[in-house]
Amino acid sequence: MHYDVIVIGAGSMGIAAGYFLSKSGKKTLLVDSFNPPHNKGSHHGDTRIIRHAYGEGEEYVPLALKAQELWNDLEKVTGKQLFLQTGVLNVGHEKTNFIQNIISSSKAYSLPLEVLDSSEVNKRWPGIALPDKYIGCFEPTSGVLKCEECIKAYRELAERHGATILTNSKVKELSVNDKRVTVKIEDQTFNADALVVSAGAWSGSLLSILDLNLPLNPVRKTFAWFDANEDLYNYKNFPAFSFETSQGQYYGFPSINGSGLKVGRHDGGETINPDEAIPGFGEREEDTTDLRQFLHHYMPSTQQLKYGKTCMYTLTPDEDFIIDLHPNYSNVAIASGFSGHGFKFSSVVGQILSELIISGKTEQNISPFSINRFK
Ligand SMILES: Cc1cc2nc3c(=O)[nH]c(=O)nc-3n(C[C@H](O)[C@H](O)[C@H](O)COP(=O)(O)OP(=O)(O)OC[C@H]3O[C@@H](n4cnc5c(N)ncnc54)[C@H](O)[C@@H]3O)c2cc1C
Repeated sequence: MHYDVIVIGAGSMGIAAGYFLSKSGKKTLLVDSFNPPHNKGSHHGDTRIIRHAYGEGEEYVPLALKAQELWNDLEKVTGKQLFLQTGVLNVGHEKTNFIQNIISSSKAYSLPLEVLDSSEVNKRWPGIALPDKYIGCFEPTSGVLKCEECIKAYRELAERHGATILTNSKVKELSVNDKRVTVKIEDQTFNADALVVSAGAWSGSLLSILDLNLPLNPVRKTFAWFDANEDLYNYKNFPAFSFETSQGQYYGFPSINGSGLKVGRHDGGETINPDEAIPGFGEREEDTTDLRQFLHHYMPSTQQLKYGKTCMYTLTPDEDFIIDLHPNYSNVAIASGFSGHGFKFSSVVGQILSELIISGKTEQNISPFSINRFK
């Protein structure tokens, strides 16, 4: 069977690419090892934070703003609520790069941001106990994406635009030249003019088949929900948050429809092979001790664990993304290495991948995400 484009990996980035490609009239085949959204990759657990004033660097801001616009469009087209404008509270020492980047990007792009000292934070959100040494940067216009719902929404639209989605089908064999892509799954062979590789934690092994060895490090991550006092932590009056503390980097979500407070640790994590079984939540002592010590220090009224889960980050050495064309094949676009902060961008990354396939270029500045920075 011949297609214009084959997308390997129909998760966060791939399903959005599939939507934009099929909407542009491209005959698109998406292939996934599982049935997205699923809980085997990097996109499960109900919620993801979207921030606009970006602690990881000002170069991300135009992408974050475009991504938000595309999420708003997706809500309009589908009639589904995918984004909750809870606001996001970023906490850290005033002098850290993370906090300085947030403040400078809010100035450069005129983004609303309230810079609060610890007593102002504690007064406004009595569920927080912030020591004097930290400040809070509250971004009222950002918030929370319902991640699996976003993937479902793009999937429905992609199928409506004629995309074919082949689920529970792992790609093990592929070959590429300038004009033709061949993908083999079991006894079926599919051909296309172009290829998108958006295989999350598995991208490294797939790309090595195409002679591209990228420094990608898949790591095990854990997160958990805790019983929460709804008067203090309900999403109607408590924001999503990101804390850079001397004990580590933590993030979390308010209680949404009785979910409890969700907390995870961003830094650290054990390198894993995504093809092997990952130890479940609680199988490592630090899974719970890390989160409890964070809550003990900063949200002390919350300690009762409901349940936790594991997930994967795919880290690059600089924790910036990889969004680029294959250096040897101009008909292969790659999106990987989202280093634990990619979901919010998946709408715009899908659009970028579609533009790269259709015209070889994109309106967005993706130079910080190039493959040749690793040389
Ligand atoms: C616990 C946790 C919390 C996070 N919090 C945030 C947050 O608050 N905000 C934020 O912006 N980001 C966050 N992230 C990061 C974000 O979720 C990821 O960056 C993003 O989901 C990565 O998308 P992806 O498309 O690369 O991977 P995935 O969504 O995992 O998609 C990859 C897909 O490829 C498929 N695949 C792989 N190999 C093959 C193959 N050989 N054949 C066929 N299919 C294949 C997989 O089955 C999978 O469906 C978080 C991540 C985790 C784990």
